[in-house]
Amino acid sequence: MAHRTLEQHISVDMTHKKRCNETGWGLYASTNIAAREAIISIERPLVISLDIPRLKDTCYECLGYGSEAYRNPERIAWEEDKKLQVCTGCHVVRYCSKECQTLSWKSVHKHECSLFARLHPNILPNNVRAILQLLLLRKANRLPHGEWDAFMNLESHLQQWESRNGRQWEDIGLMARGTKEYAGTDLSEETLREVFGKLLVNCFTMVSPFYDPLGLALHPLAALVNHSCNYNAFVRFDTSSHCLSVLALRPIARDEQIVVSYIDATNPRHVRQKELQDKYFFDCACSKCSDYVTKEEGVPQLPESSEHLLVEQRAFELLAAAQKDTSITGPIQKCQYGIHILRKTGAWPLHRQPLASLRQQLVVSLIAAGQIHLAFVHAWIQYRSIDPKLMTEKHHPIRLVHLWLVIVLLKRIYFASFSPTDLPIQKYTITSNSIMHIKLIHYLHWALMKRVGDDDDGTFAQVVRHHFIQDGGYEKQRYPIAKRDDFLKEAEKLKACTTEILEKELVWGESGAAA
Ligand SMILES: [Zn+2]
Ligand SMILES: [Zn+2]
Ligand SMILES: [Zn+2]
Repeated sequence: MAHRTLEQHISVDMTHKKRCNETGWGLYASTNIAAREAIISIERPLVISLDIPRLKDTCYECLGYGSEAYRNPERIAWEEDKKLQVCTGCHVVRYCSKECQTLSWKSVHKHECSLFARLHPNILPNNVRAILQLLLLRKANRLPHGEWDAFMNLESHLQQWESRNGRQWEDIGLMARGTKEYAGTDLSEETLREVFGKLLVNCFTMVSPFYDPLGLALHPLAALVNHSCNYNAFVRFDTSSHCLSVLALRPIARDEQIVVSYIDATNPRHVRQKELQDKYFFDCACSKCSDYVTKEEGVPQLPESSEHLLVEQRAFELLAAAQKDTSITGPIQKCQYGIHILRKTGAWPLHRQPLASLRQQLVVSLIAAGQIHLAFVHAWIQYRSIDPKLMTEKHHPIRLVHLWLVIVLLKRIYFASFSPTDLPIQKYTITSNSIMHIKLIHYLHWALMKRVGDDDDGTFAQVVRHHFIQDGGYEKQRYPIAKRDDFLKEAEKLKACTTEILEKELVWGESGAAA
């Protein structure tokens, strides 16, 4: 009896494929689609592959976080804490339960475990593991019907990689050679280079329900969805169900093209254009790229002067350096300095990039350093003053995650027994008293529940709902409705706190942000 192929459920009824220009295809709405509706859902992407550091702290099957991950500040929003067991065959992948291990073994891992074991302690990079998995499943006749052909029909941009002749072209050659050896495949090295080109230009960054990058995912159908900086849809990956979906961000009319953003669309135009050209070989001509000043954000697409361009460059460098810095105080100082030089120009509203990204990185770094109070104030600034300008939809998935982070930090502060020694200003506590503190948590959680909606069954929505119920959210008597005046008083308190911190950013030195 032939092996069963992996089960595959795809729902695409709302879309059709159509040429969008001479060279490319796009996915179009076949019907009017409401905001937040799922447009495509693919139960199992063709390949998913975890980043190397995530192999240590993430279940290889359900992608749940292990206790290791809980120490990672970027994952503070997730309050699970599972013990992971390493696969005794290869010592590379880890599982949260026997069930996960069995499922994973049957679906993919039995084809790759001995190879991983042979290479251990070396671990192959995620794109090589992705392609190996694909080739091994193909060899075992286990790929869902038609998916290999659909994959091979994707664009690889191989000639452009070659003519660019950069480090990536070298990498593609190395990966193709290595894969040929490891997978024992009948495909030529030339074809394997094509395969890697296709993976590089068509894969998505797989993110957790809380928007932490986990690795990469690819499906030929999802790869049909084109890019726009003015996107009307977004990709979501539900870790526990392995479901890759594309959801509408705003209402999409029949025959409108469905577009997502491949990059951080809040960056300035010249940064976006360079990233799209480097990674995907095209010049974006979306409505946002055609305006000189972005309508929504009201900031110039290009720095106003060469001096501003230099400051912007320096700030982007500081951001990149902070993201790489593994020390405790290093990333905090880099972010604070980047924020300072931008704000000093007087030309950077809080939501103008890279100021917003520096603050987001600052929140992460402060959490890592245990400075929860200060992290909260910056997360609050992000939620209140920055996100509404950068992402107009109240239900934008990143805005929801940022609100959740505010709630998680408020809860941490509530349960922490120490006083806010990490705040540079001692005269403020964040809330008037513990009753108001808990009311504020409840109020924000309730606001988040409303934005998430009742019919969303994604992992994020489930976690938010679970915690709301666990905290007694629906038991009115536990949380007597606070008077409006009481809330206004708390709002004043928070405002005074954020104002003082924002003012400090304008000075640098002994009494300033670095102090
Ligand atoms: Zn698991
Ligand atoms: Zn194994
Ligand atoms: Zn664009």
